[in-house]
Amino acid sequence: MSAQALAEHAPAKINLALHVTGQRADGYHLLESLVVFCQAGDRISVSPSDKDSFRVSGRYAANVPIDGGNLVLRARDLFREATGDGRSLSIHLEKNLPVASGIGGGSSDAAAVLRALRRLPPAECDWPSLALKLGADVPMCLSANPAIARGVGEELEGFDGLPVLALVLVNPGVGVSTPAIFKALATRENPPLPKLQVRDRAGLIGWLRETRNDLEPPALAFAPTIGVAQDALRSVGAEFVRMSGSGATSFGIFSSLDEAEAAAAEIARREPDWFVQATTTEFAR
Ligand code: ATP
Repeated sequence: MSAQALAEHAPAKINLALHVTGQRADGYHLLESLVVFCQAGDRISVSPSDKDSFRVSGRYAANVPIDGGNLVLRARDLFREATGDGRSLSIHLEKNLPVASGIGGGSSDAAAVLRALRRLPPAECDWPSLALKLGADVPMCLSANPAIARGVGEELEGFDGLPVLALVLVNPGVGVSTPAIFKALATRENPPLPKLQVRDRAGLIGWLRETRNDLEPPALAFAPTIGVAQDALRSVGAEFVRMSGSGATSFGIFSSLDEAEAAAAEIARREPDWFVQATTTEFAR
């Protein structure tokens, strides 16, 4: 990394609850979701350079496109279009998160590129609208703060004071098709999230028990291994277990990061090929 490199954490996004409340005329689903962000994530580094380059490393590097299909490059190109800034950039993505796994890796990478570019003077730009052009989940990843997302995910109500959670993320390596899961929903008209007033951990877990991830039943029907991963989380003491997004990653809530790390080590010992990661919703920015 050069001295000028602008490094940004691209945190995993977890849908603690996700209700599908309707469908727009254009086919997009209306959601209500409580999202949080984690210390676990990808890493982006952007440096001004004498020519453009893009390099991907990390455990899941082979699973992402390295051409213009990568959201990292789409973010760079959209920034250039919006600002007319023509300087060459060298970008490095450390891809630590499994791809297409319900924890928003691509959206978070794109948002991290925007955050890095925002630090390059003079960079005057309407960042939230640029983020939305990259995807409905990119604005929430731009702030990376706990929020209730509505609409197709772009209407954000920030939620300060949410208790820090220690989590274990588990992905058993099965692929699930997001469109197929939405298509298989029994109903698109589910009740909205109950009001979130609780701010302590026990209250939050109580609230979570009143909520759902509406995408979980169809995902479990397509990929029963998700249920096996959830049973593994329960067997090592998770207090609460749910799938994030359209899967296949599930999270378990533990009482401390130490407990989460011990639980993750046990699951990883049993299932060395799974993605298993202890993490917390508290991280340095
Ligand atoms: P969400 O939780 O927002 O639904 P996800 O975690 O399920 O997202 P991503 O990991 O963002 O899904 O991947 C979605 C698609 O985006 C994949 O098909 C992948 O090829 C493509 N993609 C493009 N750029 C990236 C990137 N930087 N990281 C991950 N996927 C990317």
